[in-house]
Amino acid sequence: MKEQLSFLIALQKLDLEISKVSLKKKELPVKRAKLDEDFEKLKADIEEVRKRYEALQRSRKEKEDRLKRGQEAITKAKDRLLEVKTNKEYQAVLKEIEIIEAKNSEIEDEVIKALEDIDQLKITLDKEEKEFDIRCRQYERDKNNLEEEAASKEAALLSYQQRVFELKKQIDGELLKRYETIKRIRNGLAVVSVWKEVCQGCHMNIPPQLYNDVQKLEGLLSCPNCNRIIYWQNQNNNA
Ligand SMILES: [Zn+2]
Repeated sequence: MKEQLSFLIALQKLDLEISKVSLKKKELPVKRAKLDEDFEKLKADIEEVRKRYEALQRSRKEKEDRLKRGQEAITKAKDRLLEVKTNKEYQAVLKEIEIIEAKNSEIEDEVIKALEDIDQLKITLDKEEKEFDIRCRQYERDKNNLEEEAASKEAALLSYQQRVFELKKQIDGELLKRYETIKRIRNGLAVVSVWKEVCQGCHMNIPPQLYNDVQKLEGLLSCPNCNRIIYWQNQNNNA
């Protein structure tokens, strides 16, 4: 009897451990999804800065090309200046050069502004690339940790289940049936301790006589309130 009770207590502890570990294991894919989601957001953010930087470079290149064409236009106009026949034509070409030069000067200002913007953004981009590198490595580490955790939980479950299997072989069939039935009805908890006349399953008081019997190990007794199998545990010595 005493032995059977100790088997039941051990079985209950294992079953509780199994449900605890199973629950933790189920949380892992959720954690992983969150990890992936956060990382994707980070990736999208840095990608956006990279694209902005590339766009600035393209815009600068386009302005420089325009400036080059403007300078070529001036060279051509100056060549034409040597070929004109009349003063009127000469004045017209000079006017044309003046207009192109004014336009070129505007473009030059735009190129300078673009270069400044590029320098500014490069500082930000470099900083964010460095940060992103660190976060990438952290992401890989977190991913590995989650995978290791899943594997270790899996191994723990297998070992608990093996022990449950061995333990059940030693428990009387009827008693095991009683245990399983109470466990099903009572939210996974079928065997509980009593201390100072209080059932640790339902936290109700049990009659003093029953408490005496439990202490004296008079058979496999049940809590009259929740019907769980009860045993006495001196909680002055046990954590
Ligand atoms: Zn109870």
